[in-house]
Amino acid sequence: MSETVLVLNAGSSSLKFAAYDIEDLSVRLRGSVSRIGDGASIEVTRGDDAIEPSGASSLADGDHADHMRWLLNSIGDWLPETRVAALGHRVVHGGQAFSEPVRVDAAILEKLDALSPLAPSHQPHNLAPIRAVADIWPDAPQIACFDTSFHRTQPRLAELFALPRRFANQGVLRYGFHGLSYDYIAGRTPSVLGDVASGRVVVAHLGHGASMCAMKGGRSVATTMGFTALDGLMMGKRCGALDPGVVLHLMEEDGLSLTDVRTLLYKESGLCGVSGESDDVRSLLDSETPEAAEALDLFAYRAAREIGSLAAALDGLDALIFTAGIGENSADMRRRICAHCGWLGVHIDDDANDSGGPMISKAGGAASAWVIPTDEEIVIARAVKKAID
Ligand code: ADP
Repeated sequence: MSETVLVLNAGSSSLKFAAYDIEDLSVRLRGSVSRIGDGASIEVTRGDDAIEPSGASSLADGDHADHMRWLLNSIGDWLPETRVAALGHRVVHGGQAFSEPVRVDAAILEKLDALSPLAPSHQPHNLAPIRAVADIWPDAPQIACFDTSFHRTQPRLAELFALPRRFANQGVLRYGFHGLSYDYIAGRTPSVLGDVASGRVVVAHLGHGASMCAMKGGRSVATTMGFTALDGLMMGKRCGALDPGVVLHLMEEDGLSLTDVRTLLYKESGLCGVSGESDDVRSLLDSETPEAAEALDLFAYRAAREIGSLAAALDGLDALIFTAGIGENSADMRRRICAHCGWLGVHIDDDANDSGGPMISKAGGAASAWVIPTDEEIVIARAVKKAID
């Protein structure tokens, strides 16, 4: 009987999973459940074959725990002669305490739960599957891998807010997120970029959530997300960097409650709020309204301003890398962003950009631009293998 590592990435209404052979970490199975609690749609593939997920129809109104039970019961049918030896979980916030993946027990789970107020849209959903697995398979090793860990190499100045010192002492610091993605990209850059990988690199992780990371020699020195995953770039539904005075104004003058503000900033802003139409770049590119066009222009303008800021943290720029849903797939958004980056020496090659790279800039510029697809799940699978070896 062979053994696998099962990787789980649970969001507010989704559950992505992948199973890897424990020996060579080849992918045995991938799947996702989207719209959990709202007629859930399930996809599972083994190699090139789609698997018909049996029992899925009874799950239409099920919650995360129902889907976890179903997944753990089904995986033996999908991968016969295979045993899940350990599980790895994407957990968005590891705070100051967790700068490495950690094996989860009841005490660790309590500490991770205490970080939930720092990532209210993510952390509780990331932790729910850990509890569900502990109920069903209490002896299975579970490893939590954090989106914050990669950034713990940042210098203190990059972490500090200009607030009274006591807040930093309490842990009110810039943590940064998308670290599993940046970890993967940092591992890929030597083979894709060659010598440039050891230089000054900005990685743009542009998905529904979006952030950028400044790396020197493959280590994070600054990032656009801060204490929470709300700061920095404009995102699908999140506002990104915002004058804190706007929040005070909305509460004082417009009477918005704390809950109203949280919903506004996390769920009603970004591309969705500015366009009034959608948080999906594909829909906005297809739209003919001026609001959709302005939302896309603002996304690119804000992204370019953050690249300038990160270039300052790096004392210059040698390479710009695009990744995640928008970064990997939208030549249009890459072109719009790079159009603001000529002063940094980034000159896009339209044909290379349209065909998806990996190098998408003209030769001879002071800085090059690239597309590298990310893979957060394999970073987790590697961490699990290392933890249980
Ligand atoms: P998540 O943060 O949920 O993992 P993804 O990395 O999957 O998000 O990215 C989702 C975003 O990628 C959406 O805004 C979607 O519009 C965008 N996207 C995906 N494919 C394309 C495409 N072919 N062209 C433009 N945008 C795309």
